[in-house]
Amino acid sequence: MNLLLHSLAQEVFLLRRNNSIRVMKFGGTSVGDADCFRRASRIITLSASECLPVVVVSAMSGVTNAILAAGDRAASGDPFAGTQLADMLQCRHSCIAHALVSSQADCRELQLELKTLASGAGNICDAIAESGSDQSRLRDALLATGERLAARLLASALVESGVPAVAVDATALIVTTPDFGEAEVDLFASRARIRTTLRPLIAAGVVPVITGFIGSTPEGSPTTLGRGGSDYSATIIGSCLDAESVIIWTDVDGVMTADPKLVPDAKTIAELSYAEATALAEAGAKVIHPKTLAPVASGLIPVEIRNSFAPEKRGTLITQTSDNSTVEVKAIGARTDDDVSLLWLLSVESEFTVRAGTLLGGHGIRHEIDSHGATNALKVAASDLRRSVQLLHEEFDLARQRSQNRDDNRRHSGIDQVTSSPKLSAAAVG
Ligand code: ADP
Ligand code: ASP
Ligand code: MG
Repeated sequence: MNLLLHSLAQEVFLLRRNNSIRVMKFGGTSVGDADCFRRASRIITLSASECLPVVVVSAMSGVTNAILAAGDRAASGDPFAGTQLADMLQCRHSCIAHALVSSQADCRELQLELKTLASGAGNICDAIAESGSDQSRLRDALLATGERLAARLLASALVESGVPAVAVDATALIVTTPDFGEAEVDLFASRARIRTTLRPLIAAGVVPVITGFIGSTPEGSPTTLGRGGSDYSATIIGSCLDAESVIIWTDVDGVMTADPKLVPDAKTIAELSYAEATALAEAGAKVIHPKTLAPVASGLIPVEIRNSFAPEKRGTLITQTSDNSTVEVKAIGARTDDDVSLLWLLSVESEFTVRAGTLLGGHGIRHEIDSHGATNALKVAASDLRRSVQLLHEEFDLARQRSQNRDDNRRHSGIDQVTSSPKLSAAAVG
């Protein structure tokens, strides 16, 4: 009975705030240094006045790669890999703790937590060096450290700015298979855990700052969801909490017509459907993990991709439908494995792949048309990737088409500027 009354009180609290849950995920570059943590914290703080934020965070940029490299060194017998990793993690995160937390007592407490996590990683590395057998289980336990460190720093940055927040370990929330390195999520089991753990925190006005990328087997061994998997963590949590939206804060203005690192004049795509965004992610657009849209598509939860360095921009809105009326080709995705790159055109018509092939041929670029189920890709040498994508971007006039349609000139003021959430249009819902 008490339990029932308690959960009723929580519901009333949520209704009285007249607020809904917004999941906000910050990628590695959005928490790359102390200023980035402050920027992320400001975005969340502003959001907290109009909704109930739930935060998901990745490891700081470069940290997952550094942990993997240390794991490799340990596996090949380097006896110093563990100590060096622990020192590096401790040093990088504790500098930021000093910069973020003003109270000496709070900073000391945080430093202690960071030190425990960093030396725990060192110990796992030592265990990898000692074990001769399958190390994927240990490797996932090691990898979890990056997200755990970042979650503690971001929660502290929020507390520093006056927002009650607590780091939450996703091993207590996301249940997966024991496929270490690329575990499959049990959404049903995760839903129960996510709701039971997070709803009381949210109802008490505390912002949960959840480790992206990781989950655990039913027996409690940490697992990882695949590289770049924090985006997927965010939508799993959004779907399980029936969130009003999920915002993926990253280092570019949204999903763009091509990777801006390859095509400097790539433009932000204002709207994409779940299917289009998934196709582009599968085609190599790293800005979202390919599994990201799966958990939210059936519940029609909108996903926004936005720039944490330019939060006034509207970014890309991903919903059920999108505007295809005037566009031949919407975007170009590219993926490189070893020396070969595959290029995909996000387009309603496959004839464009043939046109693209003719264009590349005309510029002396050797290519093959590669069939992948229902879609065609163009295979080129990795050394021709940049030039090929740039030529195709120009051929299909992507810079111009997008600038006509795009939406990121819309400017808002005050809090709305940073936090306004999309209203689904009737067409998108229907
Ligand atoms: P985060 O650390 O926020 O998870 P990622 O590095 O995983 O960020 O993804 C963002 C990067 O994705 C961008 O810096 C950009 O270079 C790359 N990218 C590749 N294709 C695209 C695209 N079509 N649109 C936007 N970004 C893209
Ligand atoms: N930190 C993890 C990675 O680098 C997860 C993520 O960034 O989404 O793959
Ligand atoms: Mg990413």
